[in-house]
Amino acid sequence: MERKFWDEKIETMPVEELKKLQLKRLKHIVRYVYENNRFYHEKLKNANVKPDDIKTLGDIEKIPFLTKQDLREYYPFGLVCTQLDEIVEVHASSGTTGKPVVGPYTRNDLEVWAEVMARSLWANGLRKNDIMQNSYGYGLFTGAHGFEKGAQKIGAMVITISSGNTKRQIDMMKDFGTTALACTPSYSLYIAEVAKENGLDPLEDFNLRLGLFGAEAWSDEMRETIEKTWGIVAHEHYGLTEIIGPGVVSECSEKKLHINADHFLPEIIDPKTGEQLEPGEEGELVFTTLTKEAFPAIRFRTRDIAAYYEEPCDCGRTLPIQSRIKGRSDDMMKVKGVIVFPSQIEAALMKVEGVSGYYQLVKEKKGPMVALSVEIESTEERYKEGNLNELEKKIEEEIYSILNLHIPVKILPPRTLPRSTGKAKRVIER
Ligand SMILES: [Zn+2]
Repeated sequence: MERKFWDEKIETMPVEELKKLQLKRLKHIVRYVYENNRFYHEKLKNANVKPDDIKTLGDIEKIPFLTKQDLREYYPFGLVCTQLDEIVEVHASSGTTGKPVVGPYTRNDLEVWAEVMARSLWANGLRKNDIMQNSYGYGLFTGAHGFEKGAQKIGAMVITISSGNTKRQIDMMKDFGTTALACTPSYSLYIAEVAKENGLDPLEDFNLRLGLFGAEAWSDEMRETIEKTWGIVAHEHYGLTEIIGPGVVSECSEKKLHINADHFLPEIIDPKTGEQLEPGEEGELVFTTLTKEAFPAIRFRTRDIAAYYEEPCDCGRTLPIQSRIKGRSDDMMKVKGVIVFPSQIEAALMKVEGVSGYYQLVKEKKGPMVALSVEIESTEERYKEGNLNELEKKIEEEIYSILNLHIPVKILPPRTLPRSTGKAKRVIER
């Protein structure tokens, strides 16, 4: 019989046992950074923490947070805890908002990365006989490389096509018999659109059965839209360059995000006070890498908003669960005094029939106030029907029912908004 879990021992470990393992690894990693890195040594010393002070998992709260600012300050290798010649691979974030964040890996770090990615992809249902089209952008970005390592560990065939050249993506999908598509969720919709323009039916003309999507905040409603468009099961992937890349969580058949907490210790904190919150409470995700050698992150503030649960899951996994990311705390907007995440608006949009997955949120400065409006393309069929005011009204009502806010909506003709082959830009300023 085929095995259900990639690593049954870890994935179904009793919670108490997992906590023991986490504590053992936490003690080790705190001592390791204290002894091997000047920045961490100073940071712990200034906070009056010695490695021996970590006696319980709760003692982690004694350690100060690590922020993106710290990472920029010690760019590129200031936080490395090994000799530089131990590093065999380097990745980096795009650095659109400053210096890039660098992710260096030792040989062992790469092994851990392949392992957690294999665990995640296996939980999604990827198997040795699958053909995975890897349409994440290859390059410094961790995405494509993480997916490649994990899929190859399982033994699947990887098509290393990278992102872009959408017509060629479609040809290869057909010719190679691609069964799993790995890319951003928005790009998968665009590929389907181009396929249709070329006279192909995404439901009939392809072998696709799995979508392996990440690198973008997307709602469950968007997931449904994509699943219906392609006739596939779509899974979420979550990760960060600062932690390891993709592979921080494994989404199971129940579509729950299990944190690979034997390697990445999660905390949820109040973003304002920095205090730890209870399971089930929504706050900022913080991760500590428990096994990384080259660049261990201790209490890294992700700025992602989510909740965390320690509940048994129907899939049989005992690894803790994180809710889907509501958005980066940077994406948070205040509209008429109400806190709004783009993903909440997306959820409302996708509930209405006759709209496409292409939309943008437009922020306009009106004096001291920021006005928000939504522009969304309707489907081809709905556009031909006309009477678009009615559709606009329907969407406005849907948004109102979720956010209690009146946000004006404008319907655009199909194919007017820019398409992206990577991360879609959902919020624009005018
Ligand atoms: Zn599960």
